[in-house]
Amino acid sequence: MKIAVLSGKGGTGKTFVSTNLAYVSKESTYLDCDVEEPNGRIFFKPIIDEVKEVKVKVPSYNQEQCDGCRKCVDICHFNALAFAKNKVVIFEELCHSCGGCSLVCPTGAMTEKDKIIGKIEYGNSENVRVGTGLLNIGEITGVPVINEIVEANYNTNDIIIDSPPGSSCSVMEAIKDVDYCVFVVEPTVFGIHNFKLVYELVKIFNKNSGIVINKHNDSNRLVEEFAKENNVTILKKIPFNKKIGLINSKGILIAKENKEYYKLFKDILDQIKEGEK
Ligand code: SF4
Ligand code: SF4
Repeated sequence: MKIAVLSGKGGTGKTFVSTNLAYVSKESTYLDCDVEEPNGRIFFKPIIDEVKEVKVKVPSYNQEQCDGCRKCVDICHFNALAFAKNKVVIFEELCHSCGGCSLVCPTGAMTEKDKIIGKIEYGNSENVRVGTGLLNIGEITGVPVINEIVEANYNTNDIIIDSPPGSSCSVMEAIKDVDYCVFVVEPTVFGIHNFKLVYELVKIFNKNSGIVINKHNDSNRLVEEFAKENNVTILKKIPFNKKIGLINSKGILIAKENKEYYKLFKDILDQIKEGEK
């Protein structure tokens, strides 16, 4: 089963939930799609056995073949090209790799070349295959890295996707093929505001979903009220616990360390699978 773990914002416990879900599955692949800041590997400490570069196409220009028609500049909707001092100037960091400029160039002066924007590292950690997407610093979008990591084939019962935070196009890329979405929500006004944004996104994709309330305390019922009004299942309420936070901050999987938490995460996974039958 393919499960994405989402949060409307960073710091709600998305990696905490996704790594522990992957651990309690008998056989799983954990995919870290939080490519700007992947930290699931801190918990799994996988032994890396495979590294794949992720490349995109960017324009390559040969001034000698250019007749100055500016068709390439006109077609670029991202302002990645300009014509100055009788030649085309390329702003590679603005390019969205659409390929338009090389297609319209009548002389062959504009072609394409590969640019490495990141990589994916694979390794094993006990019963978990760990895939980590890493976007190079300064790149504008992690979507190509996420696309490559989620579209590869994995021979495990479960695939747990640690999605990027927020509700942008990189989140869409991470959830497009999943069977189920888990929202990790913290019970604060800010937390529920951002959760609603990603909830709306998941609704558009028509995915089954459920909520894990992290750092739960009884003084705030905002998430419960939202779940009731919108008929969304609350899979679990994980109480705020300083000790657990401390263990987590040391890069230790709580399900591995503590039987009670093993049971808690196993119960979440079982509920998800039960709902899919
Ligand atoms: S590939 Fe597309 S986005 Fe990039 S420079 Fe060419 S037209 Fe612009
Ligand atoms: S479309 Fe080709 S020939 Fe025309 S300005 Fe651009 S690179 Fe030069």
